Amino acid sequence: MNVLVLNAGSSTLKFELIRTSPELIAADQDERLCRGTIEGIGGEARASVEKSGQAKNSESVPLADVTAALEYIATWLSANGFAEVNAVGHRVVHGGELFSQSALIDDGVLDGIRACADLAPLHNPKNLEGIVASSKRYPGVPQAAVFDTAFHQTLPEHAFLYAVPYDWYSRHRVRRYGFHGTSHRYVAHRYRAVRKLAREQTNIITLHLGNGCSMAAIKAGRSIDTSMGMTPLEGLMMGTRSGDLDPGILSVVASRENMPLEQVENALNFKSGLLGISGLSNDMRELQKQAEHGNGGRAALAIEIFCYRARKYLGAYLAAMGGADAIVFTGGIGENSAPIRARICEGFGWAGVALDRAANAQVRATEARISTPESKLSAYVIPTDEELLIARDTVRLILGIQHPS
Ligand code: AMP
Repeated sequence: MNVLVLNAGSSTLKFELIRTSPELIAADQDERLCRGTIEGIGGEARASVEKSGQAKNSESVPLADVTAALEYIATWLSANGFAEVNAVGHRVVHGGELFSQSALIDDGVLDGIRACADLAPLHNPKNLEGIVASSKRYPGVPQAAVFDTAFHQTLPEHAFLYAVPYDWYSRHRVRRYGFHGTSHRYVAHRYRAVRKLAREQTNIITLHLGNGCSMAAIKAGRSIDTSMGMTPLEGLMMGTRSGDLDPGILSVVASRENMPLEQVENALNFKSGLLGISGLSNDMRELQKQAEHGNGGRAALAIEIFCYRARKYLGAYLAAMGGADAIVFTGGIGENSAPIRARICEGFGWAGVALDRAANAQVRATEARISTPESKLSAYVIPTDEELLIARDTVRLILGIQHPS
């Protein structure tokens, strides 16, 4: 079955076409056919497309909206021998408390996604546009929604409730939802596969460190805590997001800078984190380069805060879980930056992490253990693959197969 995976963002539409089936899933032989990204939708957009194993092609093309962008993709697919699309899998950011699993899209599911739109006003409406556009472009083709929040619906009440007036939860659904769930779930699934473990034996802490960063405490295969909250702003320090902060800061800055609250929130989302502290960049590669040459101003400080915060969360999750078997790095930074992994792990000798320095230095975007065989708490790198999980969930839903993770 050819599954078109779609990820509709504020002005972007990413796609990948994946051939998969229960047999291919079992053999881990799903076939990646082609992929692409369209950026700048709403004006002169930039489309980049590539067939597997071939060079990327890019062009500028005016695309007014998601419907036009999808038509561009569908036309390219047909012209390049990929006319057959048997199913569409959509990344949907927020499933609120309505979706604890992926779902085949019908009118009820569409209503559910709409009902969660106030929780993710920038994302869910765009995801919905993608769904509406693809159901028009591929009428009769089954579509599935895979939610960023679903994996964290197993959080117990004591972990998902904020210590605020309870009716904020009952009336406004104020609670921790967590994000990056598809990534944490995929990484946990791969860890189990590599270690040949049953789901109930999976006790790990996953660190998704990319431009957005989050951590999940996964006990007996289920997410029991995660660092992002009601919105993706909470938790670890990120590329441009602050992560945790005292909420009292908001009114102080709003009044002293004479800023409306939305502007303060905007600064916390887009001008904080690595960018905010360094004043240079949100890109860890750039900060590492600057810090190495000793001329990075606050680049080194930004990296130090980033690693310190990650260590604090690791310690907290070890306590929350009563110990774990492994910590697993993923995301652009987690997969590629050996120095950052080392700085996070090195603070964890007391908890039994013995980093294999040579192994760690070599690992880039591949699955590998980076701790010594004697390490009491192992450390792994496992590249994430949200598109693959979306394609697999879509096929399993269509065929009525229970997903194992
Ligand atoms: P993601 O959001 O998962 O795509 O991750 C993007 C981030 O990964 C970028 O902003 C970079 O900061 C970081 N990144 C990618 N490659 C490297 C690398 N080799 N070293 C350090 N950071 C990296």
